[in-house]
Formats: sequence, structure tokens, C-alpha cells
Amino acid sequence: MFQKVLIANRGEIALRVHRACKELGVSTVAIHSTADTEALHVKLADESVCIGPPAPKDSYLNIPAIISAAEITNADAIHPGYGFLSENARFADIIAAHNITFIGPDAEHIRVMGDKISAKEAAGGAGIPLVPGSDGEVVSLEDAKKCAEKIGYPVLVKAASGGGGRGMKVAKTADHLAEALSTAKAEAKAAFGDDAVYIEKYLGRPRHIEIQIIADSHGNVVQLGERDCSLQRRHQKVLEEALSPALTPAERQEIGEIARAAIAKLGYLGAGTIEFLYENGRFYFIEMNTRLQVEHPITEQVTRIDLVREQIRIAAGMPLSFTQEDVSFRGHAIECRINAEDPKTFRPSPGEITYFHAPGGPGVRFDSAIYTGYKIPPYYDSMIGKLIVFADDRETCIKRLRRCLDELQLNGIDTTIPLFKDLIEQPDFLNGDYHIHWLEEWLGGADKQ
Ligand code: ADP
Repeated sequence: MFQKVLIANRGEIALRVHRACKELGVSTVAIHSTADTEALHVKLADESVCIGPPAPKDSYLNIPAIISAAEITNADAIHPGYGFLSENARFADIIAAHNITFIGPDAEHIRVMGDKISAKEAAGGAGIPLVPGSDGEVVSLEDAKKCAEKIGYPVLVKAASGGGGRGMKVAKTADHLAEALSTAKAEAKAAFGDDAVYIEKYLGRPRHIEIQIIADSHGNVVQLGERDCSLQRRHQKVLEEALSPALTPAERQEIGEIARAAIAKLGYLGAGTIEFLYENGRFYFIEMNTRLQVEHPITEQVTRIDLVREQIRIAAGMPLSFTQEDVSFRGHAIECRINAEDPKTFRPSPGEITYFHAPGGPGVRFDSAIYTGYKIPPYYDSMIGKLIVFADDRETCIKRLRRCLDELQLNGIDTTIPLFKDLIEQPDFLNGDYHIHWLEEWLGGADKQ
């Protein structure tokens, strides 16, 4: 096992990794920007190093500064968390070149899955069902037209390097294709420095279902069931559930086994997530994330498996501490992403938290790095906490969530707590009857009232 792990992240995920390290008897090094001197991950870590000014490109994305921090503290491994450098293959390569262990998959897998075109090719080759679409990149309008006619409108133009829901444009008919193509390309170029795009059939009312997998270096590959992340705003997840209220046990078994076999075939190492759209009983691959996901705790709650602990153990060369046969699902878990945002306009609301009280009691977990008196800096993502609730069944879980949302007190800033209070009373949510556009349609309606 490692002696010391440097955590190349901030906020709740830095704390999450710190907690797993401490329980494994491993020391931690926090890195932070000058805006995060008072952050909890810095206060709790055994050591900390300031790596630069507030702007992420100068600090949390600053590879030379992070490597220097690891070298001066003698860290023997780096955990990247999610976001920032977690899916940067170059970062993984540089870490390895410095004889430090990257807690994550091989750089080559990050590279292949980081480009959505090569990811689709790899996934298809490993037996995963794909969304019908172009054969790789579309290079011209003519190319795009031919493909769209073959698969049928509406189609979605997607950036090969896309992420965070950016660089995606729908063309409802042939008349919209030229514009969708040029705006998706321009957006992709601006956001990712790469204007390669491809085309997919646009699915009307699918659910977003993703499978958590984990694999060690001893040939063990395990799938840990699905998460339903269909409640989204601007292609960003807002509330997630495990397991999905929509799948039958037979469908669950089938897609889990497909994912597991594909991961084994790819020779993938560590934790990863295969994302699918699910419509009319069929699954369609959209992408693979080669890192820990924000919503990993709901899987941890229904499987009773500590994913971060396993990630660290795998990177240290140890085998998984369970087999596929040991995995069973118990009860239901829901996560609400609490953002420092106006619950109606979604405008970020940084500032001082004048009072904070986390809910407690049975079946409750609040993953966060905030405290009373903490000043949320304006430079980073607005997610400030994850309320995770679990119970024996979905109905009890929702009742518990209602109780927890009432208990959670967060004063001084605007948060999305009122949005969740309202959302979980909606009949469609209570019935588990929703799809990826449901939340925006409901918000649109809610705005008009
Ligand atoms: P990103 O990497 O930017 O998150 P994804 O490919 O994971 O992009 O897609 C994000 C979301 O966009 C999905 O969860 C879904 O809501 C929507 N989406 C992606 N592909 C399609 C598609 N072919 N049809 C309809 N919606 C899609």
C-alpha cells in the first residue's frame, strides 16, 4: 500500500478521497489555489501545498506545479478525483514518467475513451450496442446529409472531444443540418480546441442509464449495477437514483453483463462508467468515463462497497476485495446535487455560508466540504454538496429525502434546495416516470406559472 497520496482536486471529492486514504492508513497531501487556503480539504489533509492563483488553469490544471508538489512531499501516488485533470491522458503519462502512481486507468484507455469517436469504435468492437450514427467523423455537409438521411431525422451533431454537455446540436430536419453542423463545430473548437464532430440519431425520450464497473490487475472485472441519471438540465445531471426505477431485473442483468464482458475484453483497469441511453427496452452506448463519477455514492450505498478504497487498492496492485458473486443490491439510494445557485435562474451564488446544518439520522450521507463561515469562491463549479439518502425501498427513500431536505440548513447564499423540495413532489418523479428532457420541460412549465 502507498505511504502518501496527493489529492489533485478540491471540494467534496478531495475530502472523499482523503477519507478513503485515512481509513487505509495512508497519509494525504492536499493541493490548493490561493482562493482555497481556508478550504476543508486543506485543513484536514496531513500536508498541503499551495500550487497557484485562483484560475483553474494556473492551479488545479497546472501539471508542473502539481508534480512539483508531489515531489517535494514525497507522495507515491496521485488521485485525480473527477473533473480537472482526471481524464487527461498526458497527466497520467507525466505522473508515470516521474515514478509516481496514477490512481486511475492506463493513459491509453483514457485517450481512447476521451475521444468520443474512438470510444464508440472501441465500445462497438467490444460488443456494446451503439446509437446509430456516422461512421466516425463527418468532414463535410454532404457527408453529414448522407448520414442523416440514412439514419433518419432528427439527428444530433456531437463534438468528438465533447464534455459537460457542450458541443451538441440537434438538427430536426435537413433544413437545420448546415446550421447545426457549423455551430457544433464552432462551439467544439472554442471549448475543446478540436472541431471534429460526428452524427448520431437523436433519441426523443430516452433515459440516461450508466453502469459502474471496476477491474483490478489480476483479471477480475465486476459490474456494480446501474444509476439512473435522467434528471438533467443542459445535459448536466441534477438528481440520480440507484437502481433505476425503469429497468426489469432481466434488463439489469443483461446490460450489466454486456458492460462487464466489454471491460474484460478492453483490458481496462480501475473504476469506470459506461453511459447508455435507454429507450423502448433498448440500450445505446454514448460514452465511457474513465474516472470516479460525482454520483458514485449511490452505487456505494446499494452495494455496500467503498469505490474509492477499491480504486486505491487496485492502483497499489492489490486484488478487488470482492467477486461478482459477492455483489448484491440492497434497497434504494438517491443523490441530490446541491448547488450554490439561484433555484429559478440557476445563476451562481458564491459568498459566505452564515449557517450550515447537515441532516442526519438513519440512511443519510452528506458529502460536502462546506462549514459555517466558509466563503464559497466564485472561480469553481457551483456544486457544494451531495445529499445522499438510502432506504429499503424507493418509496421510503423519497420520504426520507423529503425529511432531509427540510432538515438541511444552508444560509447566506442561494441554493438549489427549494428546487429539489418541489421536484420530489411531482407525480412523474414519484412514479419514476421521467426521461432526459423531463426536468427541462417541467422547469419551462414551472417558470411560466
Ligand atoms: P457529455 O460528455 O458532454 O456529457 P454525453 O455524450 O455523455 O456528453 O451526453 C450527455 C447527455 O446528452 C446525455 O445524458 C443525454 O441527455 C444527451 N444525449 C447525448 N447523446 C444523445 C442522443 N443521441 N440522443 C438524445 N440525447 C442525447
